[in-house]
Order: sequence, then structure tokens, then C-alpha cells
Amino acid sequence: MTVRVVPLTAGACLNVAALTERGAPWRVREYPAGYALLLHPSRGPVLFDCGYGPAVLQAMRRWPGLLYGAVTPVRLPASQTVPAALARLGLTPADIRQVIVSHLHADHVGALRQLTAATFVLDPAAYTPLRGLRGVQAVRRAYLPDLLPPDFDDRLSPLTFQASPPGLAPFEWAADIYGDGSVWAVPVPGHAPGMIALVVRTQPGAALEGSGEGLTVLASDVAYSVRALREGLEAHPLTHLTFFNATQERQSRARLRQWLQRHPRARVIVSHDLPEPDHG
Ligand SMILES: [Zn+2]
Repeated sequence: MTVRVVPLTAGACLNVAALTERGAPWRVREYPAGYALLLHPSRGPVLFDCGYGPAVLQAMRRWPGLLYGAVTPVRLPASQTVPAALARLGLTPADIRQVIVSHLHADHVGALRQLTAATFVLDPAAYTPLRGLRGVQAVRRAYLPDLLPPDFDDRLSPLTFQASPPGLAPFEWAADIYGDGSVWAVPVPGHAPGMIALVVRTQPGAALEGSGEGLTVLASDVAYSVRALREGLEAHPLTHLTFFNATQERQSRARLRQWLQRHPRARVIVSHDLPEPDHG
């Protein structure tokens, strides 16, 4: 089984470059809110995250969402919404039966309410620590409860992790989401609780034990840029204040970097940077 990965963007936020990469200029830069469409031959079109959505703009008009908008100004042109992107691919939001959620930050779940037919696959550890938070407590964690559909809890499909196959080392735990080895979730917590990254087989014959050829890594927010991830560059120490757990963040980033060093031909996509070109 192979899966086609289509990287997409739903809006962008503004942030200071020097905070996301040590040594970068103190200048405001636009960071795309990336997500991806996964075309699995039998599970159909699935999303990995969904970027910003109209619900984010709405939440930012009133307290405490105002606070989020003040720290992280958001841009979402109509042409960049999830329904608009899906329409260009000949799909509607109702075609999306599943969203794999990397973590619950507002720029990854902003369009969930528009995906009314989907179940939500995530590490339960992503939700447990945030679930009860409201108001400023929630915004501090970049979590806006209003972005989740009212029946979110009923539509949850929690991931279960098992000892990972040797080709995913140094990750000890992994979830084979479809049971066919085409999409693996690995835990990369720290930036946010329970965050996951995906390793996707995009070419027939690609193996976890190989060079990485034919594999695509959807790394979510493990790093702000592909270069920072591959080269082990640090973000500004101030950014550590925003991490849920800075020690775990460093560990997760080091683990993924090590996996990439063992699989140099794997393609990397991080949420807020341009995707690496697809050589497939
Ligand atoms: Zn995040």
C-alpha cells in the first residue's frame, strides 16, 4: 500500500523570525499553517491537521481569543480555506472521513468544525492535559476550545502505540494507523502534549529499513523549518517558554533528526515551512 501526500496551506500567522531560529533577524515573518491531504487507496482522502479556519478568526474577535490574535496575528484568505483547497482537488469537506490530528494548537485544528463527516485520530495524551482548560489558561497553551466541534469527544479515535519496528528506531513506540504499514504515527511530544509525527510510504517497495527513499515524514511542529530539523538548529530560548515540556521537546527533535540521519533520502515536511520537493 502506498499513500499520496499533497501538502496544503490554510492561512498563515505572523511571528518574529529571531524567535523561531536562533541568529535569524528580529523581523516579522509570515509562517504558513501547513497541513496535508493523504490519499490512501482504501481509506480514501484523509487530512493530517487542517490549518486555520473561519472559527479561528471568529474566536479572535472576542476574549480570550483576542489574546491569541494579539500574539499571533492570523491571515486566512478565502482562497486558502480547507473547503476551497479541497474543491480545487475535486473534493468536498464531506469526503474527508478522518483527520489525523498532530496536536491541538489552534493553527492545526482551525478547520475541524468544517469537517463534519470526519473522525479524529490522535494521541489521547494530546487532549487529556488541555481538555479542562478554558479562558486565558487555554489560550496560553495555544488551545482554543471553541475550535473543536461540540461532539468532538464522540468522534475521537484514540491512537494506540506498540513497540515500534526496528526501522523506526530510535522511536520506541509507534502506531500503524491502517494496519498495512503505509502510515506510521510516532510520538514527538514537548512542543505540545501528545504531539505526533507521521512516516508515510509514498512509493511501492519503500521500506522503513531502507535509505528513506519513498518515505515522507510529516513532522508537524517538531521544528519551525526543515533546515532547523535536519541541522539540529535551536529556536530562540524565549520560545522554550511556549513549549509544553522543553525537555521532551529537545528529545523528540533529537530523535527525529537521528531517524532522518539514518534515512537521508526521506522527504520532510514541517508545518510552517515550504515542503521539501517530491522526488517520487
Ligand atoms: Zn504547534
